[in-house]
Amino acid sequence: MESRAGEVAAWCARRGWPVFPLRAGHKTPRPGCGRCRLSSTQYVPHAAAGCPCIEQGRWCHGFYAATVEPERIDRWWSEQPVPGVGVSTGAAGLVVVDVDCHVDGPVEAERVLPGFEVSEEDARRVRTGLDTLMLLACLAGGPETVEDMRTLTVQTPSGGLHLWFTAPRNTRWASSAGGDHDGRALGWQLDVRAQGGYIVAPGTRTDAGVYRALGDVRVPALLPSWLAGALQRTGHLLGSAPRPRAARVPNLARRIAAPQSESAWASAVATTALAQVAECERLSEGSGWSSKLNRAAFTMGGLVAAGLVPSDAEARTALIEAAVQARPNREREAHRIIQSGLVAGQRRPLNPTKDR
Ligand SMILES: [Zn+2]
Ligand SMILES: [Zn+2]
Repeated sequence: MESRAGEVAAWCARRGWPVFPLRAGHKTPRPGCGRCRLSSTQYVPHAAAGCPCIEQGRWCHGFYAATVEPERIDRWWSEQPVPGVGVSTGAAGLVVVDVDCHVDGPVEAERVLPGFEVSEEDARRVRTGLDTLMLLACLAGGPETVEDMRTLTVQTPSGGLHLWFTAPRNTRWASSAGGDHDGRALGWQLDVRAQGGYIVAPGTRTDAGVYRALGDVRVPALLPSWLAGALQRTGHLLGSAPRPRAARVPNLARRIAAPQSESAWASAVATTALAQVAECERLSEGSGWSSKLNRAAFTMGGLVAAGLVPSDAEARTALIEAAVQARPNREREAHRIIQSGLVAGQRRPLNPTKDR
């Protein structure tokens, strides 16, 4: 292992942040083996937690396979083409605020910062996620500039910012997307990457450019109280101690032990929906990629809600894989379509006995 990405991975692991490979040139997880990929021709729905691939040292299931083991990291980053580096934020005890900086305002006052009373006048000034963040800092008692936050700050190729923080001891925080109307959200154009999420490591190069650390701070600061308070107000605090393992096992076992016919049905439904998206690869523009992706996301949402796909994160990974396979340059748009399709689909759980 001699690559720059390999050094980045080792650097993260030394800090105790589990890493996993990203598809070379992209910001999405490197696809796993055929059995574990939802976008493959034959997917068998199963939970990452029980998957033998991870134990065998493969990178299946994206951030679920993340590791700090030097030997595994050495091997993964000796691959060609060299994968990028993803950090499993939840397992690393990190809370990263992902600030989108696309000029796209104005936005309705109540959508700017769901945890705060925002005046029409303040809302009118919000044009990007950075404006949202600085308004939040102002209302919640934070510093006046991003530099004053004195934490690891990474500029993304699209001009956004990732602000990295360490979660206070024994606290767990939820991930969220700022554009999500229905679920939890910190603020407009502000995503939170924590439990059940991942972030691209600084120094990673994608086709769009490099994720570059700004300034001279290279270590995440402890999550400041003004931000922790805002996250708590918006429902991001999941609990003050790690959930006991025992409580999760029966749930998992039940999923794995889903009747064979049900999981076979779910497999067929997922495979068909994803294949329709991936197949757009062979067709030029006008193939209905976005509506097929939307439909697939809706279907996957229904499967997640029914407990037939192990998690929202896995459905998301499979969808983005299929989407960028067909349209590599529309990743951003794909994320947006997937988000809204999944949210809508999860309101309508698919039922193997009725929806067949
Ligand atoms: Zn696998
Ligand atoms: Zn697997």
